[in-house]
Amino acid sequence: MNRLRLVLLLLAAAWIAPADTPPAYLLKGGTILSMKAGEPPFQADILLRGDRIAVIAPHLDAPPGAKTIDVSRRYVLPGFIDMHAHVTYLHDGDFGKGFDLAVSREILAELLRYGVTTVRNPAAPPEKAVALREAIDGPAIVTAGLPLNGGRFSTPEAVETEVERECALGVDYIKIYARSTPDLTKTAIDAAHRCGIKTIGHLQATDWPTAARLGIDFLTHAVSWSASALPPAKRAAYEAEIKQRGAMKARITWLESLDVDGPEMTEIVDSLVEHHISVDPTLVAYETKFVPSAKYRSEENLALAPQALREDWRDGGPTGDWSDEDFSRMNKAWPKMLAIVRRYYEAGVLLTTGSDLPNIYVVPGVSLHQEMELLAEAGIPPTDVLAMATRNGAEALGKADEIGTIETGKVADLVVLERDPLDDIRNTRSIDYVFHRGAVMVSANAAGAADRW
Ligand SMILES: [Zn+2]
Repeated sequence: MNRLRLVLLLLAAAWIAPADTPPAYLLKGGTILSMKAGEPPFQADILLRGDRIAVIAPHLDAPPGAKTIDVSRRYVLPGFIDMHAHVTYLHDGDFGKGFDLAVSREILAELLRYGVTTVRNPAAPPEKAVALREAIDGPAIVTAGLPLNGGRFSTPEAVETEVERECALGVDYIKIYARSTPDLTKTAIDAAHRCGIKTIGHLQATDWPTAARLGIDFLTHAVSWSASALPPAKRAAYEAEIKQRGAMKARITWLESLDVDGPEMTEIVDSLVEHHISVDPTLVAYETKFVPSAKYRSEENLALAPQALREDWRDGGPTGDWSDEDFSRMNKAWPKMLAIVRRYYEAGVLLTTGSDLPNIYVVPGVSLHQEMELLAEAGIPPTDVLAMATRNGAEALGKADEIGTIETGKVADLVVLERDPLDDIRNTRSIDYVFHRGAVMVSANAAGAADRW
């Protein structure tokens, strides 16, 4: 390349660069909910520069070129983290050929509108998911690969080969699924750890205390549905129910039979705490299936979902064949699900928020707020629910230096609320602005703002 061309290129780059960098923003007069452990809300101005939080101080003047946004009487929080968002959309759930980039982008845009600035994609076709992660035009993504669930991953050799392949492709996590037996679960965990990445378990054939001993890093969903979690006298009937009525209907019997305060649950809770395993309970993905009230099925809620998802949901999903009696039994047992999560909370399990979109009626974005409401319903104070959706997620992801709290030097991922979420967790919905990497993604003044829903 000749020297003149190089100079011209450098000049062009210098000219173009500022357009790519968000302008500085001064957020004036807000109440900051920093979500740093133990820090009460305080009044301060925040200066965002580039993709970072540059200064937090009581009275700041806007530097030249900075845009000032009045956020007085508003509440400023870190961006939310959805720890269970299958953002690589798959038609018919087909991990081979079903990927649809356009729907994936719609989902990611919806997530940002509702203040979700980071997602963990807990099972996905690895090539597509890694490519989507690198495209960075939506929330920051960390991703797992294929769910290892028996089938073609039924031998230790096949599991090890797949873990090594996905690791080489650049996934952040390995996902181990319900039918994985303890020997295969162990193989996957060991292979992932040798490669330097962590494992997410959605487990049933491997019970949770066993998985904890084997070194699983994350367990997803509030419960395992393993027979061994039930009192011994109840297990045979549950196993028989699975054979007779199928696994999904048998879950009614499982929850009815569970002793929330019994020794089996105590062993589970203790193993989570002892092995520092974080859990995303995904209560919303259970409630939408098991207690699909108008709250989820209403036109108002469904209208917020991309069209492709609404079409997928027409068949009623995994509980589409349940009778009124099935639903009414599950409805009665449902408070136990909340009680389990409350036990985890009281024992000090690192809980995070996940939606498990796009399961039936789990609307991208909105559903994370519904999850927060369910956690509050379980008896967790709003301040701790908010910590689960921010700081805890960051900690679980190993990104606590970058995201999860409002601190100088951290990524400028912020949500500005009109109403105080500590008064009522439903106020997380009163979104005025979302900032992602220092850029305004949602504005109360813009058409289509997500602030009144
Ligand atoms: Zn999932």
